[in-house]
Amino acid sequence: MALLQHLCSAPLTRAIRSRSLALSSRTMSTTLSPTRVAHVDSHVLLGMSEQELQQLSLDLGQQSYRGKQLHHLIYKRKVKEIQHFSQLPQAFRNDLQEGGWRVGRSSIYQSVTAADGTVKLLIKLADNRLVETVGIPVEHDKGSFRLTACVSSQVGCPLRCSFCATGKGGYSRNLQRHEIVEQVLAIEEIFKQRVTNVVFMGMGEPMLNLKSVIEAHRCLNKDVQIGQRMITISSVGVPNTIKKLASYKLQSTLAISLHAPNQKLRETIVPSAKSYPLDAIMKDCRDYFLETSRRVSFEYTLLAGVNDAVEHAIELAELLHEWGPGYHVNLIPFNPIEGSEFQRPYNKAVQAFAGALESRKVTVSVRQTRGLDASAACGQLRNEFQKIPLQSDSNNLQSQLDVPIAC
Ligand code: SF4
Repeated sequence: MALLQHLCSAPLTRAIRSRSLALSSRTMSTTLSPTRVAHVDSHVLLGMSEQELQQLSLDLGQQSYRGKQLHHLIYKRKVKEIQHFSQLPQAFRNDLQEGGWRVGRSSIYQSVTAADGTVKLLIKLADNRLVETVGIPVEHDKGSFRLTACVSSQVGCPLRCSFCATGKGGYSRNLQRHEIVEQVLAIEEIFKQRVTNVVFMGMGEPMLNLKSVIEAHRCLNKDVQIGQRMITISSVGVPNTIKKLASYKLQSTLAISLHAPNQKLRETIVPSAKSYPLDAIMKDCRDYFLETSRRVSFEYTLLAGVNDAVEHAIELAELLHEWGPGYHVNLIPFNPIEGSEFQRPYNKAVQAFAGALESRKVTVSVRQTRGLDASAACGQLRNEFQKIPLQSDSNNLQSQLDVPIAC
């Protein structure tokens, strides 16, 4: 899901001209051609657990403590190249390289920093494809500091929500676990700070790549040491996946992008909703809460004149009460993207909507807009540099879905 689109609204061209921007990397070619390299790479160290690294060391004729050293070098020292593992014997480094192993860190292709400190990165993957990730720093009055990494789970997205630039840019492939983890490490590197929170709200639908998302979640929790409660997995809703996620009993937040209080309206905003009726989503969310005791958060993007009337808020409150406790609503005033038919609602409408929910005892928050000048919406920075339309592997995509995508 795309939180990124809510972070920024100014068109990229205007944002880049803005004085408040600091381009912290050199602009490269304006067109980047994806290459057809195999993207399922099993010889990547990043993403492996300490136990797996110990086993790898044993397999290569080393003692198991070398695996601990590997773990330290990858996750604590954040070394990016095998030949820079200076603690390890040269012969072991050579064996790793000759065996086709690599650390799995990619280069940062472009970065844009907004006046409020929000940083958007474009990461260039091994097959030349680009993904966006965002670092959002928040300093509180009491001196505490939070750094949230908003990570992508797919290259593009097949679900084509009507208000989302990522959806408009097409879909290419799922990210592997290390390609998710490395986004967090890249944010840490840029900020020279530990990431405290991770939200799977960047490019892509995490539930369509659940295997890699769960593997990355394990690594971020156990190896990068980010608390499970500090991780949020967001979804627009994919049939049969909420139940599957619940079975892992993670102590992380599930955020469902609802955007409408009824099925008819939802289908006009989220085309894939045709495959997953609202009642079925609400039932799965109730079961998720019962299974995990973790409150489900509902994301609701307010689109002026579409879904932002008080009547919609009343209908939403009724829907939530029908399905029981354990819910929170996060309102997101839409930030227009280039070429979008939707408008941002007036603050007055946002307040009226929130007030109608609160008066009906629904807990609600309004997301603060960050990084308005950092670049355009989610997917637009990537689209600017990756001009060749993304091609999906339809067999690969269909095999991940239990039902056809209705969009
Ligand atoms: S198109 Fe994909 S990335 Fe965009 S909002 Fe919908 S699910 Fe999220």
